[in-house]
Amino acid sequence: MNDCTNYFFLFAFSEVPIDKWRPGYLWVSHLTSQLWCEQQMEYGFSRPQLASPDPPQMVRGSELHLARELESEEYVDITVQSDEDVFAIKIFNLINHLNDSKEISREVPIFGWIQNIFLMGKIDEIQRKDNLLKISEFKTRKKAFLPGKAQQDTHKLQVMIYQYLMSQISRLDAKRTCDKLQLNPEKKLGEDVIKHTSVETLRDLLCILQLQPQVTLSDKLLIEYSCQEQDAVFAKIDVAYDETWMLEKVEKCQQYWLGQRPAEGVDIEEAWKCSMCDFADDCAWRIAKVKEMQSSGNV
Ligand code: SF4
Repeated sequence: MNDCTNYFFLFAFSEVPIDKWRPGYLWVSHLTSQLWCEQQMEYGFSRPQLASPDPPQMVRGSELHLARELESEEYVDITVQSDEDVFAIKIFNLINHLNDSKEISREVPIFGWIQNIFLMGKIDEIQRKDNLLKISEFKTRKKAFLPGKAQQDTHKLQVMIYQYLMSQISRLDAKRTCDKLQLNPEKKLGEDVIKHTSVETLRDLLCILQLQPQVTLSDKLLIEYSCQEQDAVFAKIDVAYDETWMLEKVEKCQQYWLGQRPAEGVDIEEAWKCSMCDFADDCAWRIAKVKEMQSSGNV
């Protein structure tokens, strides 16, 4: 058996990443991390002790997100007693946002299938004008400079996935979803959840979701960049929805999650990402690339 055969044999019989690292579903942010560096994302699961704590600008970014959310949303405490309750609240919040007439809704839960992956996420902002909904993402930067193309691409992928999930929401396959999330649609929801939603089961809420009229979405998405130092938006980037581009990226991500190929690191042209990576010292992908270049006489 040569090395390649050995490798395939081991890979084919190891647990697939979606089962190994995640409880059946992914967050949209997993796919955007993959677009940056898939190997880095996997090391985040397998070597969490090497990951640095969140830098201060990330903590500040979360505070600014929360402040914006509280400007437009009111919060009610609801006691949840089961996973069914937790998902019911997400569905209920989404239905309320869809039926809201406010010009701006923030932190809107979104979920659904894209190819064979079930995704969950939270849309930063939906702007509503004449019944046309525009999806917008808010990013904070330490200084008033736009990020490079690689990072902007992760932001574009994020808003395009939100757009896709939103366009599919009334066609959500309830049975497939409950099976995937291991939820019982007939189980009676918790007392407090019933009090607020006025329905008794997840099935009832999923039926209401499926009865929602098709939303009309703008094919222009928005990414707003705000400077933390000045606490002000300094750039608004319009993004044209490109479903073909987005689905190609998701398909490649999916191949990894379903165990059809191992994790990949960055290409040589993007090796600059390794200089800011917590896992660089021991990264098998990076070390293999360096050896490859040395043997070809490029270093
Ligand atoms: Fe990815 Fe480079 Fe980090 Fe390896 S060192 S995980 S290739 S960014």
